[in-house]
Amino acid sequence: MNSAEIRQKFLDFFASKGHTVVASSSLVPGNDPTLLFTNSGMVQFKDVFTGKDKRPYTRATSSQRSLRAGGKHNDLENVGYTARHHTFFEMLGNFSFGDYFKRDAIHYAWELLTQVYRLPTEKLWVTVYAEDDEAYDIWAREVGVPVERIVRIGDNKGARYASDNFWQMADTGPCGPCSEIFYDHGAEIPGGPPGSPDEDGDRYIEIWNLVFMQFNRDEAGVLHPLPKPSVDTGMGLERIAAVLQHVHSNYEIDLFQQLIKAAARETHCRDLANNSLKVIADHIRACAFMVLDGIIPGADGRGYVLRRIIRRAIRHGYKLGQKQPFFHKLVDDLCKAMGEAYPDLAEQHARITAVLRQEEERFGETIEHGMEILEAALTVEPGLKTLDGETAFKLYDTHGFPLDLTADICRERGMSIDEAGFNAAMERQREMARAASSFKMKGSVEYDGKSTDFKGYESLEEEATVL
Ligand code: ATP
Ligand code: MG
Ligand code: MG
Ligand code: MG
Repeated sequence: MNSAEIRQKFLDFFASKGHTVVASSSLVPGNDPTLLFTNSGMVQFKDVFTGKDKRPYTRATSSQRSLRAGGKHNDLENVGYTARHHTFFEMLGNFSFGDYFKRDAIHYAWELLTQVYRLPTEKLWVTVYAEDDEAYDIWAREVGVPVERIVRIGDNKGARYASDNFWQMADTGPCGPCSEIFYDHGAEIPGGPPGSPDEDGDRYIEIWNLVFMQFNRDEAGVLHPLPKPSVDTGMGLERIAAVLQHVHSNYEIDLFQQLIKAAARETHCRDLANNSLKVIADHIRACAFMVLDGIIPGADGRGYVLRRIIRRAIRHGYKLGQKQPFFHKLVDDLCKAMGEAYPDLAEQHARITAVLRQEEERFGETIEHGMEILEAALTVEPGLKTLDGETAFKLYDTHGFPLDLTADICRERGMSIDEAGFNAAMERQREMARAASSFKMKGSVEYDGKSTDFKGYESLEEEATVL
């Protein structure tokens, strides 16, 4: 089954259960200025869950384009390192707005996985929230999942990928327990079952998350049962496609293989398993859809996230020896792979190509010199573990290397950046700019320094997590 058929089967299944098929919304959330990107299927329904917005339906299903490259959800640093994380992916979901609840949500999910997609039941594991006996009993008694494969998960704050089976929209408002479904990709892959110390591996992969919105949390943190509880679920299309296509990694599915081959063609890389090709294939999807949704590369906010992802892709091309603009050429291949599901992509393809090309040309002017400086700094002494902040700042300020790009290169070599040094260098530069501009105001000295744009770094959300 190819990705398009898997997507369609999901939507058809839930349509047959009385759900209205709702189109994917933009990556730029229309209803929430505090959210950088649409990062899941429920985003366009937020106000429906709280009751602020009313729709003519109480059941919906969608395949939502989602981006996790900034803000609360950021998987940029996982791309190229795990088999299951992308920046851009599609989230298949079914939603109940005060209509059905736990029992139906669980039965629907099981029916789809085992009867429509025909997954072998012995490969499936489920987790429930530690205190959610109701969900536990439905899985164990009604569905008949053996208790050895049902794991209770509590609050697990702070773990990098690890499960935390309690979901909340914000500090106050709708919240509730989750139940996640995992697929066991086989004993030859490292990683332990959910809830175990080595669950971060890629053996047991989470495919579907069912969220039961059961409570309303008030200002004092007290949970009040919602009169009409709701359901929000999300399943990664690429992850279920990997399972159904009998491959382990998301990057081996039909859709990604097309893009990886295209990236190999444009970079003249012969090794289709090269990690940089995966990163480039991931990034072309993110970048093209960001431009499609009206974002252009810039110095702050969403535009800076886009710029950073484009530059990371270019740097991976550079690493493969491609020093000419190549990234924008992949838009054509992306249209072939995804244009049918997203007709706008094909319509906008010339504009998207032009925007990416311009950014490539811009970075193309400085990357080579920047890479030379970085290379020299990284090899200045044997066994060096940290790149000095001065150099990282110079690359940022003069050569257009976002800090996370430099950090990514350092990480490949087991090195890190002296961030305090970077911040100090930035502060010094700011002081100088301030002093120069106050001289200028007095009219005594004409400031002729280069214009320095700090906005990008200042407004970069949660810089710590980006690193
Ligand atoms: P993980 O623990 O693997 O990082 P998650 O718990 O953060 O996933 P959810 O927020 O529960 O993910 O999202 C619902 C579903 O979306 C997941 O079960 C998974 O199938 C898919 N998904 C989440 N993040 C990604 C990603 N970065 N790339 C591809 N699919 C993803
Ligand atoms: Mg995650
Ligand atoms: Mg998870
Ligand atoms: Mg989850």
